[in-house]
Amino acid sequence: MNDLNHTSAWKNCLLIIKDIVPASSFETWFAPIKPVSLEDSVLTIEVPSDFFREYLEEHYIDLLSGVLRRVIGPKANLIYNVKIVEGAFVRERQQKRTTYSNNEVSQVKVANNYEGNPYLIPGLKRLNIDPQLNPQYSFSNFIEGECNRLGRAAGISIAKNPGKNTFNPLFLYGGPGLGKTHLAQAIGIEIKEKFPELIVLYVNANVFQNQYMAAAFSAKNNNDSNKIADFLRFYQLIDVLIIDDVQEFADKKGTQSAFFHIFNYLHQSGKQLVLTSDKPPVELQGLEHRLLSRFKWGLSAELLPPSYETRLAILKAKSEREGVEIPEDVLSLLAHRVKSNIRELEGTLFSLIANATFTKKNITLSLAQDLVEKIVTDHPVEISINRIQNTVCNYFSITSEQFLSKTRKREIVQARQIAMYLSRNLTKTSLSSIGSQLGGKDHATVLHACNTVCDLIDTDRSFRQFVSDIEKQLVSVN
Ligand code: ADP
Ligand code: MG
Repeated sequence: MNDLNHTSAWKNCLLIIKDIVPASSFETWFAPIKPVSLEDSVLTIEVPSDFFREYLEEHYIDLLSGVLRRVIGPKANLIYNVKIVEGAFVRERQQKRTTYSNNEVSQVKVANNYEGNPYLIPGLKRLNIDPQLNPQYSFSNFIEGECNRLGRAAGISIAKNPGKNTFNPLFLYGGPGLGKTHLAQAIGIEIKEKFPELIVLYVNANVFQNQYMAAAFSAKNNNDSNKIADFLRFYQLIDVLIIDDVQEFADKKGTQSAFFHIFNYLHQSGKQLVLTSDKPPVELQGLEHRLLSRFKWGLSAELLPPSYETRLAILKAKSEREGVEIPEDVLSLLAHRVKSNIRELEGTLFSLIANATFTKKNITLSLAQDLVEKIVTDHPVEISINRIQNTVCNYFSITSEQFLSKTRKREIVQARQIAMYLSRNLTKTSLSSIGSQLGGKDHATVLHACNTVCDLIDTDRSFRQFVSDIEKQLVSVN
């Protein structure tokens, strides 16, 4: 044991590991490791990236520590040296390109290995990825308003200097139809125009998830962990990665873990990430904490429902682009009546144009009025006690069984009290009816709950935040 040095120790470790893990995993995850030193039972190894280290830690830490103890002794310890690829942090574009060409051979090989990858344009030797961008979703077609000013400005700034700005990741969030996909795509389009050599990829979270599942499935069935490694490596080649609707990753552990590695790798190498979601990071449930905390590293920008002026400007721009002249009063009627989101606004405008074309009628105010009556449902959704209960449960991650149970656990009692308080403020229901719907309590209990909540709102800042977050969620759907 005494005449072990780092080379022989690691060689012995490899002999054991080789017998245990499948050959492909061995080649991927162990063969590239270089032993550096062995001092006082501490073996230092060199790994090619941080991502590599994390992968080892996550998947092979038990194996590694067992083997090390067997070879080096009970006090064995492991230190990683992460070898940063030369130039990975270099900020200058010119130097960055040099790094690329150094890596070109292996990049091409990796890309070709990733069979079934829908983004690779076959037959080309150079790595060429279809960025999946729709030219309609450009900045020039994106109308600026108070509702999207921050996100748009951040997007433009990113496009000037992808990866090398403080908005990394840019996290765009907001309700449906408010322009998240459009803005995220606009960033990609602009970057591709300014820097054609950069590899840009837009991918919806569901598509990413399916690709990961396919790789994991194939890895499992064929006992070939290369498939997952290929998947990860493919995404690590991207310079600007845009993932739309990351809320879809909720409760999908494997996908989250793969994304986590990709995120770290890209972020650390100065690559740009743009993410969209229907909720702000704090409200994303079913996502690992380590991911959420990374989402907050850069800038989160909310897209809000547009004001009347912005709605009007959007209608004008869209009708102009369609080459249809629409009277001012008609546009103003649409802008007044369709408030919920931009997708619906656009849909109503296009129905109006289609309607007039088919019936060969002119677009008049009365035609527009008829149509708006038929398709716009702008009655506010009534806030029901049931919805309040669901929203509260969701917010605190508790089930409705727990909520309605007789338990006196503090957090459940508090959730119930908040629901009672909100029911009293946001609905016209009587105290006794609120009590009976929220766990069979009497009206005195509801009154007591309302008073308690009022007191806590006055004295406890984080409690006040809970209540206002939940209230915002309830009201914003209207
Ligand atoms: P989300 O992804 O938030 O659900 P989208 O980006 O798909 O919303 O937008 C819905 C529709 O509204 C798209 O057709 C998009 O082009 C349009 N749209 C959204 N925001 C704007 C804007 N600021 N200017 C012009 N069109 C917009
Ligand atoms: Mg979208």
